Amino acid sequence: MQIKDQLTNLKPYQPGKPIEEVKKEYNLTHIVKLASNENPYGSSEAAKTAIQNELNQLAIYPDGYSAMLREKLASFLDVSESELIFGNGSDEIVQIICRAFLKPGTNTVMATPTFPQYRHNAVIEGAEIREIPLADGYHDLDAMLAAIDPETKVVWLCSPNNPTGTYINEPSLSAFLEKVPQHVLVILDEAYYEYVTAQDFPETLPLIKEYKNVMILRTFSKAYGLAALRVGYGAANRELIKSIEPAREPFNTNRLGQAAALHALDDQEFILQCREKNKQGLEQFYRFSEEHGLSYYPSEGNFILIDFNRDSDEVFQALLEKGYIVRSGKALGFPTSIRITVGTKEQNAEIISILAELIS
Ligand SMILES: *Cc1c(COP(=O)(O)O)cnc(C)c1O
Repeated sequence: MQIKDQLTNLKPYQPGKPIEEVKKEYNLTHIVKLASNENPYGSSEAAKTAIQNELNQLAIYPDGYSAMLREKLASFLDVSESELIFGNGSDEIVQIICRAFLKPGTNTVMATPTFPQYRHNAVIEGAEIREIPLADGYHDLDAMLAAIDPETKVVWLCSPNNPTGTYINEPSLSAFLEKVPQHVLVILDEAYYEYVTAQDFPETLPLIKEYKNVMILRTFSKAYGLAALRVGYGAANRELIKSIEPAREPFNTNRLGQAAALHALDDQEFILQCREKNKQGLEQFYRFSEEHGLSYYPSEGNFILIDFNRDSDEVFQALLEKGYIVRSGKALGFPTSIRITVGTKEQNAEIISILAELIS
């Protein structure tokens, strides 16, 4: 058997360490996982109730068109139903886009470090990857523009960017979109959109009316706290959506996920509170970093990347032994930093005190 060449050098995704494994390994009873940017407050009660009501229908395939969720979300976002595509997480939409646009001989442009799934899926399709280093933590949009050529099919903008938390402001995005050639699809991955508080963060949904080559990706996994149920979506011009729909699996979003997402949308109070508490949590980490002279990127997400000026695996390990699972920066392209998901006020305080002791 001969597997595609490009798969031989790829590793499967390495998730954060599972809680049960850490408990056993270090003989701990209490573990806090702040490694995958999950919502420390869980999800809306409305979502949980909605799932209960679906439990007697598990034998029945979900609605492949997600019609009810689609109707609700379209009205919530003020886009039309035909301007949406749903995915088994926005991860799957990344995969669909790569399947639909990339092949050997084409290329795709992205920042580095950024969300690894753009690269991963593009490699599988055999496309050339053009990675443009972040400039001081931010997308270098001029260099990304310069990397575009007639064979460029997709450009990925992750804002807020995972793992830095930095974002692309409105004037920068506008200038970029004015210059991008029309044959290039621009993906704006806004997985952390609901956490954003920056005043100059662009309002991107209206852009899909203006630009036929722009797609916005969002998800119910992060602020909505429904990561387990795998629902993400893309918003774009209807012709673009229609053209990629055949690359989508027929029943890619599941019954529980659709119901939970639909009802979670009704509970915007939950989102508001999570955004506010997240902002306060970020302030805890800013204060800590400043007090100890550690550099960090101001974050618009629910995570923060802090530079400890030492091997990140060492900091990761020290936290792990105390029951805190975070992300070592090594695998993320920042070998002396760690990425911490903002937890509850108490979790943040505790992790900060462990870190303070570690570096003192
Ligand atoms: C978490 C994340 C996603 C994917 O989330 P799904 O659970 O697949 O919806 C996409 N993009 C970025 C930048 C992320 O951090």
